[in-house]
Amino acid sequence: MRIIVLIKQVPEMDRVEFDSEKGVIDRKSAGVEINPFDLNALETAVQIKEKIGGEIIALSMGPPRADKTLREAVARGADRGILLSDGKFAGADTRATSFTLAHAIKKLAPFDLVIAGEMTVDGDTAQVGPQTAEYLDIPHVAYVTALDEVDTSSLTVTCNIWEGSYRKRMHLPGLITVTKDINFPRLPELRAKMKAREVQISRWEYAAFSDILKPEQIGLKGSPTQVKKITIPPPPERRGQMFSEEELEAALSAVENNIREKRLTGGNREND
Ligand SMILES: Cc1cc2nc3c(=O)[nH]c(=O)nc-3n(C[C@H](O)[C@H](O)[C@H](O)COP(=O)(O)OP(=O)(O)OC[C@H]3O[C@@H](n4cnc5c(N)ncnc54)[C@H](O)[C@@H]3O)c2cc1C
Repeated sequence: MRIIVLIKQVPEMDRVEFDSEKGVIDRKSAGVEINPFDLNALETAVQIKEKIGGEIIALSMGPPRADKTLREAVARGADRGILLSDGKFAGADTRATSFTLAHAIKKLAPFDLVIAGEMTVDGDTAQVGPQTAEYLDIPHVAYVTALDEVDTSSLTVTCNIWEGSYRKRMHLPGLITVTKDINFPRLPELRAKMKAREVQISRWEYAAFSDILKPEQIGLKGSPTQVKKITIPPPPERRGQMFSEEELEAALSAVENNIREKRLTGGNREND
């Protein structure tokens, strides 16, 4: 079974700063890490490989430094990593990102399963997984919370959407996007980390796609989304307050009196 895991490098969101004047994330203000949901995607792939065997390919589109992310993916169980990196891919919205990823996945055919995180912590649209499946013309299931059964031709999953829980069976090749509930990603072993340092991450530039992708279909030129304005919401006001037991009792009896009074006057409303 050939499994392709989509991995995005994101800024460390608990450290990153926002440039409120330009309305953008100041990406230089923090380090980078694997998008947390993509760790769940990778762990899902590793568990499938442990059960039925196969190959795991980690695929990312991003700047050259994203090869660090793919190296970590290898330390965590991927067999190899491929980075789509070229100035022509830069500035891509979710459409151009999915379109490019789908063309890279086609180059990796025959494949059986594509796994993505449900969303990223920086872009947060949750569009790339389903969009990629549409461009590949394969079925997909989003928001997967449990992998119930898997074999080389199909898988059965549980997914939760809007408080409903659905059990779905999908024929392969197909794509799933996974939530954090699906598993606990295991930590890489030191030996695997050391080995991953030596691994060659393949880099695919635009030249590898020039026969199938036109420059106007990718990167900023291929992105119909226009971000007009980004505002940073002010920090929420502190609403919590500590009360002593006496204060609490006084407040409760005030509320009780109030309700009682309202009930009494409410009954007389017709006579007001
Ligand atoms: C006009 C415009 C310009 C932009 N310019 C930039 C820019 O210059 N630099 C920049 O970093 N972002 C840029 N973005 C943001 C960029 O569009 C998104 O980060 C990207 O398309 C992915 O969307 P998302 O983060 O919402 O992913 P989601 O749809 O929330 O991600 C779901 C899953 O898809 C997979 N995935 C998502 N992105 C990738 C990827 N790149 N590689 C592999 N797998 C992936 C992961 O598995 C992820 O968990 C721009 C956005 C717009 C609208």
